[in-house]
This record gives sequence, structure tokens and C-alpha cells, in this order.
Amino acid sequence: MKASQFHFATLKEAPADAEVISHQLMARAGFIKRLAGGIYTYMPFGLRVIRRIENIIREEMNRAGAVELLMPLIQPAELWEESGRFSAYGPELLRIRDRHNRDFIVQPTSEEVVTDIARQDLRSYKQLPKNLYHIQTKFRDERRPRFGIMRGREFTMKDAYSFDRDKEAALISYQKMFDAYIRIFDRLGLQFRPVAADTGAIGGSARHEFQVIADTGEDAIAYCPDSDYAANVELAEAVAPAAPRGPATEPLVHTPTPGQARCEDVAAFLKLPLEKTVKSLVLAVDPAEGETGSATIWLLIVRGDHSLNEIKAGKVPGLAGFRFATEAEIVTTFGTPPGYLGPIGAPGPLRIVVDRTVAAMSDFVCGANEKDVHLTGVKFGRDLPEPVPAEQAGADTDVIVADIRNVVPGDLSPDGKGVLSIQRGIEVGHVFYLGTKYSEAMNATFIDTDGKPKPFEMGCYGIGVTRLLGAAIEQNHDDRGIIWPLGIAPFDVAICGLGWAKSEPVREAATKLYEACLAKGIDVILDDRGERPGVMFADWELIGVPIRINVGDRGLAEGKVEMVRRADMSNESLDIDAVLEAVVAAVGAKS
Ligand code: ATP
Ligand code: MG
Repeated sequence: MKASQFHFATLKEAPADAEVISHQLMARAGFIKRLAGGIYTYMPFGLRVIRRIENIIREEMNRAGAVELLMPLIQPAELWEESGRFSAYGPELLRIRDRHNRDFIVQPTSEEVVTDIARQDLRSYKQLPKNLYHIQTKFRDERRPRFGIMRGREFTMKDAYSFDRDKEAALISYQKMFDAYIRIFDRLGLQFRPVAADTGAIGGSARHEFQVIADTGEDAIAYCPDSDYAANVELAEAVAPAAPRGPATEPLVHTPTPGQARCEDVAAFLKLPLEKTVKSLVLAVDPAEGETGSATIWLLIVRGDHSLNEIKAGKVPGLAGFRFATEAEIVTTFGTPPGYLGPIGAPGPLRIVVDRTVAAMSDFVCGANEKDVHLTGVKFGRDLPEPVPAEQAGADTDVIVADIRNVVPGDLSPDGKGVLSIQRGIEVGHVFYLGTKYSEAMNATFIDTDGKPKPFEMGCYGIGVTRLLGAAIEQNHDDRGIIWPLGIAPFDVAICGLGWAKSEPVREAATKLYEACLAKGIDVILDDRGERPGVMFADWELIGVPIRINVGDRGLAEGKVEMVRRADMSNESLDIDAVLEAVVAAVGAKS
């Protein structure tokens, strides 16, 4: 490609809405152009990177035995009604109508269509396992599109779907995808972690997110530096402290704490460490549909420096579908407004859950259910009942102990191999064992060995193709611009003709080298725009092409050209005859 024919649109300034470096650099380097909120044109440089990422994904998917097809962008609502998602998906699903007033959707994902294909074509166990995938545009009307194409509304995803006879086989398909993802993200040159994620209502352990490590990531990952334990913070287990509860040495005392409603304030006021206080959170569970009565009020207690994990709380028996209690409910139950609540002596009926860490505390401080008063020296077994593990608790258990908090750095790793650290990540892929959720809803069955129809066991596997550009840049940039990992750069090599307009020898030598690179199958661009060297260099450094060759009169006089490596900006003067070999060594010959 000659730069004079290519499309450049580099900018000096990033757009004002670009909050993260990847968005700023992609916009400045002219990789994307905003058309509407969360909707971007992939400009020629950007599209080249996307295509290279897609090809790596495609190669590894094919290697893993998956088969490519292409399912439509626009899908009929009826299929989505069969799965129940036409209404359940919510406002992220873009619903449209055709001229006959029929409902359609723009696909955010393709479980329905692929399950419909499977129920038509896969009739016998002999045709299983099968894994079908496509690389297709998605539309999700995200509440908050941001970070450029990292959280767009229109984006490209690779989504694959596996069909198996039974759960055991489905988990083998899952593992194959898991392994393929490791190869894909390795080949993309990214630093990443597979992270165990919440399986929600489906249960089981087979769900991982692939997270690219970056400070600007939207997800927090808890991991153990001494083992391969990694889990989303929402899922990571907070284990009970290793040491048993210490002896209580203080009596229970009503202690005035005027105006001190927050744990931090109470601790400072009483000159105690924050770890001696506990935080009270009040939840409510409404009666089931058809039942009467008022909501059940629950008090959840975590240590003063910890925070409630709402996903974990929802898994405590009886707490599914909880909401936060209203101020009126709090006053009725506790006889006092928030700030001074506690588990001891509340006037109203109450169910109590304490976190595992709290259950191991002694001589601690909690609200006294009286304005401007806290209790100090609280002791389990004396001032309130010993907590009972959730699994053993009944409807009349007074105090339940369960894991209800978010982990923090320094917590014991659940695998017992060290302590946890927390880092941020960008979710670039997702592997998910689905079970029979869609096959049952859509009556998608095959005939098993016993001659009976059975619903398919399914898995789904996504990769955010366009999000990967952002993730790669978040990990690979400097103050000059992007540093593309080899293998996904828009071009591998840029040849800059210095003094192009004036010098015939430069034009000749640069063109000759360009053609030699092309003959080797190298993705090369010849900068023949006739720009000043400073402009050319700044452009290629911003765009992030891995290798730049500078061809100028001064070097040519000595038979030399200069090779600059973008990653470390090192430069080398090479004999013109040796440069092709050096380029091939740096980027690999394609033919
Ligand atoms: P998130 O939690 O980030 O919203 P998700 O759970 O909705 O992701 P999946 O449905 O698993 O995502 O989609 C598979 C992959 O598609 C994700 O791992 C991510 O890389 C990508 N992806 C999801 N939403 C977007 C988006 N709005 N813009 C770009 N890529 C996206
Ligand atoms: Mg989402």
C-alpha cells in the first residue's frame, strides 16, 4: 500500500469525550470515527487491525474444531419470544418493525437463531458434538456507551455455540474453547487472566471471563499471586479468618456517640481501629406473589472496613430477590433512623446475617438502636446468639453466618495458597456453560442412543473483537502513541522516503525496498506523501507500526538506511542490502 493512496486522518487533539487513553489514541490516530453515541465507523487503519484480530480468532476456532457460519443481523421476534428474551432482555435489545408491522430485533447475541438451526439440522447423537460460530456485528443499546469502541452500542463479536449430548460432553467442549481462548489471547500479545465468574441462576462452575489486565478496566479481579486462583470480585469467596475468635475482655457498654453515624466517625470518636466496628445494612424481602403480609426485614452485618456483596447476599437462603429497606421500614423495625442500628434489642421482628469475619470478632462496636448511642464490648454467645452457618440455619435461627462481603487485598486466598491481590481488567472474552436453558425453552432436541429425544446441552463463547483493539492499546502505548503487538498492527512496516519530492535516489531505493517487502508477503506501507520527516515520524509513532525504515539521501550516500523499532524506539543503521533480511527477521515472512 502506498500512503498517498491510503486514508489518513490523524488529529493533534483527542475528542473531549475520550476518557481513556485507548479511545484518545484511536481517535487521534484515525482508527475510528464517531457517528453517534457508541456507534463508530471503523476507519481503514482500524479495520486492518480488526481483520487481523478476526483472522487469529478464526484460525484458532477452526483449529479447535468449530465451524464458521454467518447468522443474520436482523432476527424475527418470534424466535426471541420462544426463549422468553423478547421481553426479558430489557432496553438493551433494539426492537424494530418491518413494513408489515412485524417485530424484529437487531441481534445482541445469537443463541435463539443457532438453537433454531440445531433443532432443524442436528437430529442424532451421531452428529454431536458440534460447535458453530460467527463473527458478526452486534447491537446493544447500552445504558452508558463509553471508552470508544470498548463499550459501544454497535460492535463486532465472535460468538460460538456448542451442542452436546450430555453435561460431561458439554464440559469437554467448554474446555476446548477455554484452551482456544488461551491461544488466541496469547497470539494477540496480551497480558490476560481467565477469571472464574458468577454463574447466576444457572449454577455450576463453568463460566470464565477472560480479562485483559488494565487499570482502566471496568471489572475488579481478585487473584492470588502465588497460585492461579482468579475470580471476579463479585464472586471471589471471602473465607473465615484463619485465627479463631479472640476472648472477649470487655463488658457490654452503652456508649454515647453523638452525631457519629458512620463507622469511620464512630471509630475515630472512640479512638478504636475501624476493624473493631461493624456496619449494619437493612434489606427487605417482599412476600411472594399471592401471599399477603409485610416484607421480612433482614439485618446484614459486615466489618466496618468491608462492603456488602449484593450477589452473595442474594444467595443466602430467604434473601433471593431482596431490596434495600425503606427508611420507614427501618424506623418501624429498629425504632431509630439509620446510623445507630444494630443486632441487639431491635423492637421489630428481624432476621440477622453476619459475615464470616464479623462472626470471628470479639469486643466489637455496633449501633445500640438508639439515636446517638453505640454498644461497645459486644460478644457473641453473651450479648447475641452464636451465629449458625447458613447451610444449617432454619427459619427460627436468630443469627446466620455467611460470606456476604466483597474480598479486599490481603484476604486469604480461597485455595489456601496465599493472600489475595486485586487488579482491574477489561473483559474481552467469555466462556459459559449454558446447560439446557435454550434447548428446553425452544424444544431443541436430538435422538439419543436410547432412541429418545433429549434437549441439547449447550455452551456459548464470546469474544469482543472490537473491544480488543481498545484493550490492546490500554496495555501497549507510550506518550508518542500506540505500540501494536506484532501480529495485529495495521501494517508491519512503514517505509519513509525522506525528501521524497526532491530526491530521485530516495524514491528509487524506497520503492525498491517496498516492492521487495511486498514480494515477501510483508504488510508494508510506503510513505510517499512527501511530508516533512517530523510529520511522517509523528504519524507512524502515533499509529504504532512496529517497524519503520527511513530512507534518506544522507544514508544512501553510504549505502545505509535506518530501521526504527516502535516498541523501544531503538534505531539501527543497516546496509541497504541487509535491510530486507532484518525486516523479515523482525516481522516474519508471510510467503
Ligand atoms: P459486559 O459485562 O462488559 O457488558 P457482557 O457480559 O454483556 O459484557 P457478553 O454478552 O459475554 O458480554 O459478550 C461477549 C463479549 O463481547 C464480552 O466479553 C465483551 O468482550 C464484548 N462486549 C460486550 N458488550 C460490549 C460492548 N457494548 N461493546 C464492545 N464489546 C462488548
Ligand atoms: Mg453487557
